[in-house]
Amino acid sequence: MLTRRRALALSLAALIAPSRAETKKIPVVASFSIIGDLVREVGGDRVSVTTIVGPDGDAHVYEPSPADGRRIAQARLIFVNGLGFEGWLDRLIKSAKSKGEVFTLGNGVAARKNDEGRDPHAWQDVANAKVYVEAIREALTAADPEGAKAYRANADAYLAKLDALDAEILQAIDALPKERRRVVSTHDAFGYFAARYGVEFIAPQGVSTEAEVSARDVAKIIDSVRAHKVGAVFVENIADPRLANRIASETGARVGGVLYSDALSDAKGDGATYVDMMRHNVKQLAKALAP
Ligand SMILES: [Zn+2]
Repeated sequence: MLTRRRALALSLAALIAPSRAETKKIPVVASFSIIGDLVREVGGDRVSVTTIVGPDGDAHVYEPSPADGRRIAQARLIFVNGLGFEGWLDRLIKSAKSKGEVFTLGNGVAARKNDEGRDPHAWQDVANAKVYVEAIREALTAADPEGAKAYRANADAYLAKLDALDAEILQAIDALPKERRRVVSTHDAFGYFAARYGVEFIAPQGVSTEAEVSARDVAKIIDSVRAHKVGAVFVENIADPRLANRIASETGARVGGVLYSDALSDAKGDGATYVDMMRHNVKQLAKALAP
């Protein structure tokens, strides 16, 4: 029988020492919140995921901290988007002297290109998110073969959810009159969404948020909003809302709400997971563009 004192000592030890399950988890770093969510879905309780650019953060212009370097140094696997999204990342990995293996998920999709180069926002097409999930499953399985069955089961369940999400978005956009499917966003983050689901996006800022928007760019957008029928102007969760609000007020277009472009919301928001953020965006579009 345990004495009272021994029982107390045991429970204290349990509080202080990390459980065996916790120490055995595979340390994984994801460059930004959306990839972090996908890795959690596939990895489940076998992985411990740290995200560098968190909720509502802008990964285009992120400045890493010393703590990010320490996280990268400890990671066994590092999942990144690539396609020019995280310009600060190579230097961070090098300076942290990380031995973690880097997986560039964007390399698995057919990248869209424009004058500025490759468009990194591949996750805005659910079919591409599925490609990311499959690559994550393969990477985790190679690093932790004992977990193969769990990763397969987690990925299968999640891929089925993504199929349902994709069908739901196609259906919701299809129900909107074609001539109303034109909106303004702040930066050009919805090219993949536009191509897959059939909503035209006009943006004053390019595929990166790094470049300043010139007065000429804004004037061009305002002309274009006036010339074409634009259903609504949307604010993005990672962007300053003033630009969108100004375009709306100068053209009389309505403000359609907030779209999640390059990051999830925090846990309390309505875009706390990838599925939630896509669903939220479609709801906002449908509400603004319905006749
Ligand atoms: Zn972006």
